[in-house]
Amino acid sequence: MIRVRKPAEPPEVLQTKGERARRSMSTAYSRAPRSYQKGKRTFEFDSSLYAHETVKQALIAAQHGKCAFCESPFEHISYGDVEHLRPKGGWRQEEGEPLNQPGYYWLAYEWSNLFVSCTLCNQQFKENLFPLQTPARRARSHKEDVTAEDPLLLDPSVDDPEAFISFREEVPYAVDGNARGEVTIHTLGLRREKLAERRREHLGHVRALKNLIKIGQQPYAEEAREILQRMQQDSRQYAAMTRAFLR
Ligand SMILES: [Zn+2]
Repeated sequence: MIRVRKPAEPPEVLQTKGERARRSMSTAYSRAPRSYQKGKRTFEFDSSLYAHETVKQALIAAQHGKCAFCESPFEHISYGDVEHLRPKGGWRQEEGEPLNQPGYYWLAYEWSNLFVSCTLCNQQFKENLFPLQTPARRARSHKEDVTAEDPLLLDPSVDDPEAFISFREEVPYAVDGNARGEVTIHTLGLRREKLAERRREHLGHVRALKNLIKIGQQPYAEEAREILQRMQQDSRQYAAMTRAFLR
């Protein structure tokens, strides 16, 4: 996981249609808060807005075609999911507990809440989880303030994930055992075996290049140095792991 720098200006569809939808949901909630809290009424979300092509393309560009969470490139095999960091339809503090409603409906079309992720990170692992350090601080409606929350899940557009999660070989770990790193690794399944296999393979290449540099035979050593430089760039797969390995 690395820092994601989105353009400050949200795609137009979010500012127009998305903003209208947010206002109309807020009004509906204010009229019948208890119905929404009990799940008798639920919001319908329009994926043609939050996952609009312009939104998706802007996210893909900002994330260099990689999943915001596991840093796997996905464009060659899947469309990727437009993912809400704060879940729009309902949330869970812990795995296995019933879904709490409503979700962060007022952030369904909010630029800062959107990322693009691979299907596994989103659908198999994160799902509706959004744990907080202090659950009592959770914003339960558009009238409450999400900035008062203390999320355990890292937000790659706000936090610097590399300060919280590092790697021993291909295995991610929470720096100094910090809770946010640990919860993020667990919630997103960042230690899953299939992902570890990919990272291990990648690390094999990194290690081979490093050895070439060590041997020092030119021009191969110079070429290896250039390749390794590129492999550490944000645009490259598993950049956080590569950087951690070479530090
Ligand atoms: Zn992923």
